[in-house]
Amino acid sequence: MAERECGFAPLLFRLHGGAPQVVREVLLERGWEEYDEEEQEEGDWNLYWRSSGFRKSDYENILPWQRLNHHPKMSQITRKDCLARHMRRMKIAFGTALYDFSPAAFILPNEYTKFLGVYTRNRTTDRGKSRYWICKPVDLSRGRGIFLFEDIKDLVYDSSVIVQRYISNPLLISGYKFDLRIYVCVKSFSPLVIYMHQEGLVRFATEKYTLASLDSLYSHLTNTSINKFGMCYAMDKERVGRGCKWTMSRFRSFLHKQDVNELLLWHRISNIVTLTLLTAVPCVPSSPNCLELLGFDILIDASYKPWLLEVNHSPALSLDCPADVTVKKGLISDIIDLMNYRMVDRFRQKGYCRKRSGSRYLWPKISQGFLLPKTLHAPPSGNKNWNQSVSGSSSSQDTRNNTGYATCPDHPNSKSTGHEKNPKKFEEINDEVGSDDLKLTIFNSTRQSHRNTPSTACKLPSLRVHKLKSPAVPWNRVTQDRGVPPCRVGDFILTFPFNEATWKASQDQADVKAIVNEVHKLTNRLASSFNEKERTKMESSQSTGIRDKFEPLLWGPKDPPLRGVPPFFFFFRIL
Ligand code: ADP
Repeated sequence: MAERECGFAPLLFRLHGGAPQVVREVLLERGWEEYDEEEQEEGDWNLYWRSSGFRKSDYENILPWQRLNHHPKMSQITRKDCLARHMRRMKIAFGTALYDFSPAAFILPNEYTKFLGVYTRNRTTDRGKSRYWICKPVDLSRGRGIFLFEDIKDLVYDSSVIVQRYISNPLLISGYKFDLRIYVCVKSFSPLVIYMHQEGLVRFATEKYTLASLDSLYSHLTNTSINKFGMCYAMDKERVGRGCKWTMSRFRSFLHKQDVNELLLWHRISNIVTLTLLTAVPCVPSSPNCLELLGFDILIDASYKPWLLEVNHSPALSLDCPADVTVKKGLISDIIDLMNYRMVDRFRQKGYCRKRSGSRYLWPKISQGFLLPKTLHAPPSGNKNWNQSVSGSSSSQDTRNNTGYATCPDHPNSKSTGHEKNPKKFEEINDEVGSDDLKLTIFNSTRQSHRNTPSTACKLPSLRVHKLKSPAVPWNRVTQDRGVPPCRVGDFILTFPFNEATWKASQDQADVKAIVNEVHKLTNRLASSFNEKERTKMESSQSTGIRDKFEPLLWGPKDPPLRGVPPFFFFFRIL
């Protein structure tokens, strides 16, 4: 407290009971302090992290300097039944071809008759060929209550469940089934801004895959929570090794050796992420001070087609094995970088100084609009540092996310924004916040200490570089001012928007149809480009004997030279 009086307000995090320990560890390593309800005043925190969702009042009472780690209404895609419903709706609206990554699913008991129809039709048309189904309780996780069946007489349930087509030809590694846990961060739903983390997990079943026994959960389910109790968990399994997890890097070098078109695979996975999150856009209210970490479970089948199994709210962040430590510590550190906090939050501190000194300080609520200190709208004239810091260190959007917030045009209440409603309050705050508070410096991340790699997170790509290197897309002042997100933050790669058209379409009222069209166009162009490239490569590899299918594009190699060039510029280059 004394420190604060003399001008130093450390960043404070608040953890709800059950929040993962790794979050605490990473934040403390980075110099944050933990909020103490008894010591500190209510609201005197910067980040509130909960594993479960927040209450409505938490969203309503949020202050300008605060962030929550969940958007409201995320159950729209994280509950199995809601996801199934949305997927079906999108298939009807945009065609099954685009949404064919989602296995057919039925919500029982309501859709029993529908399921029975499909089940019977499949049996007769496939002339006795087996069709497998998987039954999952709609609101459970970690493999609880899941079973497989082939014959409908084995379908027994006593709660709401989904019955989903079982992908019975998974890609196997030495006979073991696996799926991918892809970490996705939705920085904002309005406009839609999605990042995918390059480092994820591969989760293995611990017994060899066989359709001869549908009862063996250790062979059909890839949940760690199940497999860690398997007999073979600790054994050194052929190629897979001990335990049941790989890092994504290890998987990628495996793919590299298999002569797989890894690029196409990652592109399809990016599409799955974007198309899935698009379904939630109309349902999630604009909450600019929230961000969401989601775990996408993707199964790859024997023909390298990725399937979406489910989307996890609060994906597990426990550190059970070395792969977890490598992946999850870096992940949390990169999320904090995505939030773009400064080391010392004078914005928050000024609020409290005023409160203590008894002067009028009314906290503007984020629910009134997306708040932006006036100085961020209009850089002070003659301030040389301003331009330097904007072009040299981060995007303007990140500036806004740093200490203050811009009015969000499509916020339900944004016709009359908080800024307009309470102009005095904001001027008061802005007068108090020195211009140095608004510089776009990001403090050095401590992830170096646990990753041993230079942190790129503190050196976000410069917009000026975009402009120079990529004339294909006019990166004009207007787009800069609207805060085009940086293409890479740590190991988070910008997945959406992926070009100027999608950026525009996701502003204001997201134009889902236009976005879907862009995804479609890009996929087609990419596919034809791949075919052409493959042919050329085959020819050249025959002459040189070299066959290298590991190509940087959307996903890119580990630590690629992506800085300054958003992924979609690569598309334009190769097309
Ligand atoms: P939970 O939330 O309980 O983990 P999931 O939907 O992720 O439920 O399913 C658990 C595991 O079951 C997955 O990790 C995967 O290994 C397997 N699985 C789930 N759905 C399918 C499916 N349609 N086809 C093949 N395997 C599946």
